[in-house]
Amino acid sequence: MAIVTPIEVAPGARRRIRLASPATLDTIDEIEVASREDVARALAAARAAQPAWAATPVAERAKVLWRALQILLARQDEFIEVIQRESGKPRTDALMIELFAACDSLAHFAKRAGRMLRPRRQPLHGVLRFVKKLTLVPRPLGVIGVISPWNGPFVLSINPTVQALIAGNAVLLKPSEVTPRSGALVGKLFAEAGLPEGLLTVLLGDGETGAALVEAGVDKVSFTGSVSTGRKVAEACARQLLPCTLELGGKDPMVVCADVDLDRAAGGAVAGAFFNAGQICFSTERVYVVDSVAEEFTRRVVERARALRQATEGEFDVGPMIWPKQLEIVESHVADAVAKGAKVLCGGRRNPALRGLFYEPTVLADVTHEMKIMCEETFGPVLPILRVRDEDEAVRLANDSRYGLGANVWTRSAAHGEALARRIDSGSVCVNDMMMTYGAFEAPFGGRRESGVGSVNGPDALLGYCHVQPILTDRMGGRATSGHYPYSAARDAGMQKFMRFLWGTRVGRWLA
Ligand code: NAD
Repeated sequence: MAIVTPIEVAPGARRRIRLASPATLDTIDEIEVASREDVARALAAARAAQPAWAATPVAERAKVLWRALQILLARQDEFIEVIQRESGKPRTDALMIELFAACDSLAHFAKRAGRMLRPRRQPLHGVLRFVKKLTLVPRPLGVIGVISPWNGPFVLSINPTVQALIAGNAVLLKPSEVTPRSGALVGKLFAEAGLPEGLLTVLLGDGETGAALVEAGVDKVSFTGSVSTGRKVAEACARQLLPCTLELGGKDPMVVCADVDLDRAAGGAVAGAFFNAGQICFSTERVYVVDSVAEEFTRRVVERARALRQATEGEFDVGPMIWPKQLEIVESHVADAVAKGAKVLCGGRRNPALRGLFYEPTVLADVTHEMKIMCEETFGPVLPILRVRDEDEAVRLANDSRYGLGANVWTRSAAHGEALARRIDSGSVCVNDMMMTYGAFEAPFGGRRESGVGSVNGPDALLGYCHVQPILTDRMGGRATSGHYPYSAARDAGMQKFMRFLWGTRVGRWLA
């Protein structure tokens, strides 16, 4: 059964979509799809509201974020319920991935954005330092289009929205059609926190609404989703010369060294692979374990994976795949691996006890890079383990990927872990942790190669929602260039002499 089904409507009426729960397959909701005209109206409202917001001091903007945080803290259960209902994810996944990270994002940027966005003096080099003053002034871009996926439907909607808003922009947010109400929570939260009207509109809809948003005339697009849609967004942005950030898919490797604490590494592998049912862009999707510890590491991973519970309510550990498309990808990757010689150590099938889209936590051995499971994003609860001769082979195979989002390295020596991390060609690397958590907001988070362009988080990402305008002021009131014309041979000769002094003498180079 499809999770998203189009509903027949009268000609000329707005399109409608029916939604089912991935956990129970019961119908849970219906949404109206925002049209091109809706997007245009929202953009006009955003354009009207944004200048006053841009003129509001950052400390005042931050107060809205602090209020949103308090509302979120007070009403955690209500938010968790909406997210769980649409995604079927366990309560802990909703709490940790969505709410904890959202609260941290609100607090982090409310507290620190003032400093990050402050105009700053930039000392100049050479002789210019005596005659000019340079100030770098971050100015909001205007209206930001945020397009988010279903796997972290609340946090991946709110985090870019927080950053764009605190930087002085308005936002048009288009959450995934599979999890629209979790995205809509962001609009509700900010409205209750007192964000002035027009500054944030949530546009519910599918890819058509997303495409209309990209083409609507916004000033930047912040996209999180699949590589194939990311490519379309990038092409549309390139045509319009629009900046965009693309947070795309991953195939994160885990490297297990010979000196590892086996219990911790096995726990990290299981958390990295099965958290959110493996539906995280930086899930651990492949393991390279050094031969001497491979057997015992694998045994411990399988033991833990077998203990994970699946259910539709109450206490459980691993939720459903979000929609049939995703389940089919997982099934096809496992089938391809088995056909090419992989061994299923546990799982390897849909959960026969449940009606919804549950795939059992699966561990595979005897895998190779000829299998899809080691090369393409699976985005499901499957952990393939490959034995390697040594760490050099592990690094070589970890780097053999068209993706480059995250990676993790496990060893008892932090120094050794960091040295290995520097050899891995990915956006970020964790040592003795399974993922670059959203808690590390200081770290720029982004991918290399097909994993994306640009980054979220970190001061540079916040400044990415601004144009940093250099203002260069002549300290001599314009004397430096006002005598530019007419040209004279004598002045040219003087200039050449000056250049020889500046870059051709020791004193000059000291000044340069
Ligand atoms: P998706 O690309 O199918 O959809 C993402 C969003 O784009 C949705 O809101 C969708 O409606 C919209 N969309 C679809 N077609 C569009 C178009 N032509 N123009 C504009 N918008 C359009 O992705 P998904 O299946 O929802 O999400 C899963 C993917 O997201 C995985 O590949 C995962 O790795 C990736 N992801 C990446 C990160 C990261 O930070 N790198 C985080 C989470 C998820």
